[in-house]
Amino acid sequence: MRKQIAAANWKMNLTLQKGEELFDDIIALPHELKADQQAIFAVPFPYLAMAQQKVHGRKNAFIAAQNCYNKKSGAYTGETSVEMLQSLGISYVVLGHSERREYFNESNQFLAEKVNICLENNIHPIFCCGEALSVREANGQNDFVAKQLEESLFHLSAEQIQKVVIAYEPIWAIGTGKTATSEQAQEIHKFIRSQFAAKYGVAVAENISILYGGSVKGSNAKELFSQPDVDGGLVGGASLVASEFVAIINALK
Ligand code: PEP
Repeated sequence: MRKQIAAANWKMNLTLQKGEELFDDIIALPHELKADQQAIFAVPFPYLAMAQQKVHGRKNAFIAAQNCYNKKSGAYTGETSVEMLQSLGISYVVLGHSERREYFNESNQFLAEKVNICLENNIHPIFCCGEALSVREANGQNDFVAKQLEESLFHLSAEQIQKVVIAYEPIWAIGTGKTATSEQAQEIHKFIRSQFAAKYGVAVAENISILYGGSVKGSNAKELFSQPDVDGGLVGGASLVASEFVAIINALK
């Protein structure tokens, strides 16, 4: 059965001390993760070890890196390998966030290589996809997202694809306060699942968690997550506020 997931993306925010405080505040607020629910925290690289300690022994809470490199090891100054992440016990990596695609020119092909190296090392990619406003206005979102999935993921086996979490994030809704309506989210999530069903079969597609990202907050999470093909959220801004993120966890199906 697919997981319902609240994933926090801290991006390049907070200091080590503020990050520790945020974890402590979240832990102190009432929340419960059921067997098929998870909370994942994608924190900056320097805070991974601290974050691992904070979730140690906590049921269904995991730490993610926000990126990794596509090479195993070697002379790549400033980069982080999946082997390094694995040695810290990290189980997820966010890949293909629109900010990385835009500011660091990450292509679908380059992301396919990162997906491969993660899976070879037992790390689950949280693979982001989603269209810009101009694409949505031209009603081209389905073709755009289908191409992202095809070029970065469709070389995977049925077994491998079920280890990938998808995050659909319309770029026009990220950090803008503009959220897709729950109907818009459901429509494209259903389309994404149908793409997986066409490629891998319905049973496999039903096992893949598809998160929504784009200005999710405590006040809109329940409505978004109530949609049948929305399996939780990838959350930027609101994940930096303990009460907001806990409300989002508590809104999971
Ligand atoms: C994100 O960073 O993935 C995101 C969805 O940001 P926000 O929630 O701030 O829109």
